[in-house]
Amino acid sequence: MDETEKIQVLSDLVAINTANDNEKEVAEYLQNLLSNHGIQSQMIKYSDTRYNLVAEIGSGKPVLAVSGHMDTVDAGDIKEWDTDPHKLTERDGNLYGLGAVDMKSGLAALVIAMIELHENNHPKSGTVRLLATIAEEVGEYGADQLTTQGYMDDADALLIGEPGGYNFVYTHMGSLDIKVTSEGKAAHSSMPDSGNNAIDHLLDFLSQANSQFKDTGKSDPVMGDFIFNVTTIKGGTQVNAIPGHAEAEINSRTLPEYTSDQVLSDIQSLVDKLNSANNDYHLSIKVIMKLNPVKAAKDSKLLKIAGEVAKDHTGLDVGKYGVAGTTDAAMFLRDKPDDFAFVMFGPGNDTPHQVNEYVNKEMYLKFIDMYKDIFVKYL
Ligand SMILES: [Zn+2]
Repeated sequence: MDETEKIQVLSDLVAINTANDNEKEVAEYLQNLLSNHGIQSQMIKYSDTRYNLVAEIGSGKPVLAVSGHMDTVDAGDIKEWDTDPHKLTERDGNLYGLGAVDMKSGLAALVIAMIELHENNHPKSGTVRLLATIAEEVGEYGADQLTTQGYMDDADALLIGEPGGYNFVYTHMGSLDIKVTSEGKAAHSSMPDSGNNAIDHLLDFLSQANSQFKDTGKSDPVMGDFIFNVTTIKGGTQVNAIPGHAEAEINSRTLPEYTSDQVLSDIQSLVDKLNSANNDYHLSIKVIMKLNPVKAAKDSKLLKIAGEVAKDHTGLDVGKYGVAGTTDAAMFLRDKPDDFAFVMFGPGNDTPHQVNEYVNKEMYLKFIDMYKDIFVKYL
């Protein structure tokens, strides 16, 4: 493919609105593109509008799984954008558009690398398996589904093209979202004894939870401290009524040393303690989302090869890091050992989830060449 075609693929992907839905259109586009270059693929249905896509080049072992998500976040306030978010626009060497960096460029680069290798009769041995997912931004349902259906079972390594730029991320925190509900009894505020103040009980819980979980001493040498925050709160109906209902949401960033399941169990214990110590407390929790932390080998063959390839192409000694954010690896690696080979490496910068999101054109093109080299050297 020449440079114009490579930009056109990204432009076509950005033109398809996949804000938290409609990945079917991107899956169909990629299926068609791959098929035009002799590569078969399967659409894996999640719902009528949401399909994952799986495609392979080569055959046999080892199997290198490569992944990108097809959804984006919402465009936000359109008036804040300097350009049309669904029209890829070049300015000063950068390509602007919704999903340009997170992560339609990474996805396009993986697909184009596979096409170019296939056309040159690579790989000679082993398999590159593309796992293009739905719903990474909310829920990681696509990665969950593909893992459940066995697409990671025989994988020897995983590369995700999320937008880290010239950095290797090999470990990241998990994420646990829970809702806490406090049920009381509504009453007129002049007769508080006939009511039961749900807000007071919720506040008691939140204050104890904050003192227990804000400073647990739980820490990871690469990613740092466990993170706990109350992020939303709602309750009551009017100023002159005792509130019968209140609720709050909590987000935690979990660690291999303090997993989502352990945190959940400790929060449940606090709820149980308060409910049993106070007859009028009716607190309960519900899990909204639970993603595992990812811990992978720092010295894997995949990371070593990626380091050599990155040095060749950029001249940089690319560092290895851990991050607080989560990726589809939380699902893909849930049954894998801690020394599994994983790297997040894709065209990136600090504009994901922001208006005027862009990817640097040169970096996008360079990643296509780096992916080709990584695939061939790894297999
Ligand atoms: Zn992303």
